[in-house]
Amino acid sequence: MKLIFLGPPGAGKGTQAVGVSAHLGVPHISTGDMFRSAIRNETPTGLEAKRYLDAGELVPDSVTIAMVRERLAMDDCKNGYLLDGFPRTVDQAMALDQIDPPEAVVDINVPDERLLSRLTGRRVCGKCQGTFHISKLEDEHTCPICGGELYQRNDDQPETIATRLKAYHDSTEPLIDYYKGVTEPRLIEGNRLKTVNGDTKPEDVFKNILASLE
Ligand code: ADP
Ligand code: ZN
Repeated sequence: MKLIFLGPPGAGKGTQAVGVSAHLGVPHISTGDMFRSAIRNETPTGLEAKRYLDAGELVPDSVTIAMVRERLAMDDCKNGYLLDGFPRTVDQAMALDQIDPPEAVVDINVPDERLLSRLTGRRVCGKCQGTFHISKLEDEHTCPICGGELYQRNDDQPETIATRLKAYHDSTEPLIDYYKGVTEPRLIEGNRLKTVNGDTKPEDVFKNILASLE
């Protein structure tokens, strides 16, 4: 199965991608995680991407597409993939349709007014990369899954969140029509879009996603 998760920052793409990729037996590929790891390791891609992540802006397509192209060429993508955070622009979507086209695109819907509190309350585990909301944590600093240390992402500050939401509406939302197959140019015919309500309990979102893929 070749699958994409679409949706605004804070929609729950990362959380759901962990369960769905395990269920389908395909690798979970998060471009955000790849960039953060490249930044930690100070690779050329990381050095280039850092200022964009810090500002909440999109990394240029040339850098992002090259990184994903390399990742999809790896052996574990033979049976498919679950992309989380890519594509985020129409040019990225068109590049992907030329590299290895997705069969289904799950658009996780959450109203804008819910996203801010989800993002400002988000904590990430430095060890297993799990994400949690402070309202559900007994100990704000410790991962309930692996015991690793939790931190707050640099770009989960209110000013940066506003920039990220704007980038989503300006650059990424047009992908909804692209995958419905109603815009030109059309590299692949047909409607690949599955819309799922993301404004409910995580277990229910998981069920809705699997149902949408049947
Ligand atoms: P979120 O979905 O919560 O915004 P991500 O972890 O997916 O977070 O992405 C964090 C940042 O990484 C983005 O704000 C952007 O700077 C960069 N990034 C991730 N994926 C892409 C992409 N496909 N194109 C350009 N930039 C990206
Ligand atoms: Zn952990």
